[in-house]
Amino acid sequence: MSDPRLAARGKVAVIGSGFGGIAAAIRLQAAGQQVVLYEARDKPGGRAYVYEQDGFTFDAGPTVITAPHCLEELFEVAGERLAEHVELLPVSPFYRLLWPDGERFDYGGSGDQMLAQIAARSSADARGYERFLDYSRRVFARGYEQLAATPFLRFSDMLRVAPDLAWLRADRSVYATVARFVRDERLRQALSFHSLLVGGNPFDTSAIYTLIHHLERKWGVFFPRGGTGALVRALVQLFQRQGGVLRLSTPVQRVEVVEEGGRSVHRVHLAGEVETFERVVSNADLYHTYEQLYRGHPAAAQMARRLERLEWSMSLFVLYFGVSGSYPDVAHHTVLFGPRYRELLREIFAGRRLPDDFSLYLHAPCVTDPGMAPAGHAAFYVLSPVPHLGKAAIDWSSEGPRYAERILAELERRVLPGLRGRLVTQRFITPQSFAQELAAYHGSAFSLAPRLTQSAWFRPHNRDPRIPGLFIVGAGTHPGAGLPGVINSAKATVGLMLGEPALEPAA
Ligand SMILES: Cc1cc2nc3c(=O)[nH]c(=O)nc-3n(C[C@H](O)[C@H](O)[C@H](O)COP(=O)(O)OP(=O)(O)OC[C@H]3O[C@@H](n4cnc5c(N)ncnc54)[C@H](O)[C@@H]3O)c2cc1C
Repeated sequence: MSDPRLAARGKVAVIGSGFGGIAAAIRLQAAGQQVVLYEARDKPGGRAYVYEQDGFTFDAGPTVITAPHCLEELFEVAGERLAEHVELLPVSPFYRLLWPDGERFDYGGSGDQMLAQIAARSSADARGYERFLDYSRRVFARGYEQLAATPFLRFSDMLRVAPDLAWLRADRSVYATVARFVRDERLRQALSFHSLLVGGNPFDTSAIYTLIHHLERKWGVFFPRGGTGALVRALVQLFQRQGGVLRLSTPVQRVEVVEEGGRSVHRVHLAGEVETFERVVSNADLYHTYEQLYRGHPAAAQMARRLERLEWSMSLFVLYFGVSGSYPDVAHHTVLFGPRYRELLREIFAGRRLPDDFSLYLHAPCVTDPGMAPAGHAAFYVLSPVPHLGKAAIDWSSEGPRYAERILAELERRVLPGLRGRLVTQRFITPQSFAQELAAYHGSAFSLAPRLTQSAWFRPHNRDPRIPGLFIVGAGTHPGAGLPGVINSAKATVGLMLGEPALEPAA
């Protein structure tokens, strides 16, 4: 077809196969669009990439799977059932929390067990915790059930929810809110660290994110058999069964918007070819989308300048390692708090150098699925939040090996005795990996920080207001990072696209 408008009709390009991109691709394909999903890397999943090394399977990113109904919905829109393709294994406790003096708190799982542990510390805090549960439930009902998959395109959308936000005191931080319910500093840490899972400092992140507490209790915490990578594969296969096209190792280099007969078409430039689409959904990093992909478009240049002024989430150092034998006393998810909390977080989010101490998250998938490692071995990853490259210009090629060694020593001392003598394989990623492999601005691990002033209408919109036909999904748009966030972003974005009369079924 020589007329690009005809060639483009009913065709949608999705750039990036993170969870948000795949979810959008499934929804669009199931609604009768012809979707081409372009992925720069050799495997789909984005931050949920999988490293296979020496017989071990290492999920690179998300490991705490919550809100399974979001995943179920993706199968349902395509007329299928999740349970027939992926087994979600319950994880209990949700997290084991450890402090430097060896104190331990098993978080989640049964509510009674939580309450008993809190009551053992303080009966006043046990009552405060029950009031916190109630608050978290109310925030969930407003912030998640009503708003997570609702796009905020107009300021009036924000005004509409402003009374709710004021009533819930969304202007307060997660930590400040928790502190109103419980007095014990360690309980405050136990009830506030969750915003780190979506890239937010608990001292800056809106109290809206206390909804995570209720969300986890309502549906549970899961791990897919075979790892998060198995979930990615199942979703990609679902997309392909619907007739969708996935093109791996195909980075989009540029997108040109061409006006033709009063309508815009998007010319997607790949190495050596150009394909034309009526609509583009970008799941790529926001800054990369506007600064690189849509370069040359005046509205994109302005958006890129705006993004440079916003607050980006921290980055991560993640060390993946395999050991001989097992550690039967280790929980699936362990948070190892360091000696400092508030000050350490301030240095991670605003500091200009790598802090000397760290708080770590240890992932031990073999606790739930021994198949993640060869027989007689166990797979792990340990994650340390670190400043992004725009804050601290650390040369990670020299710092990385040193930092890995420090973390291994800490794990050996606190939870994995004899670790370094049992290592059989390891690798790590740094902020530079996020920048180079995922085109992440400043190497940020979670895109724009989830502050109130960067949420809902204030967050870059699911539909670009000034580039017709450009839509956004993923961590950078509403509602934000984390798997429930990006999968809900796809629901919001595709809802907008399907509501547009111009979107015709594929020929
Ligand atoms: C280490 C880590 C642990 C995490 N743990 C959890 C967890 O336990 N639970 C949870 O819910 N969340 C977790 N998160 C957050 C969650 O993983 C992310 O918020 C989410 O996966 C981001 O999805 P996304 O849709 O924004 O896309 P991304 O995963 O960011 O994927 C974007 C994709 O776009 C591709 N791309 C970029 N540019 C181009 C281009 N020009 N052409 C083609 N393709 C391109 C990239 O290669 C990438 O595949 C974690 C994140 C990290 C980093």
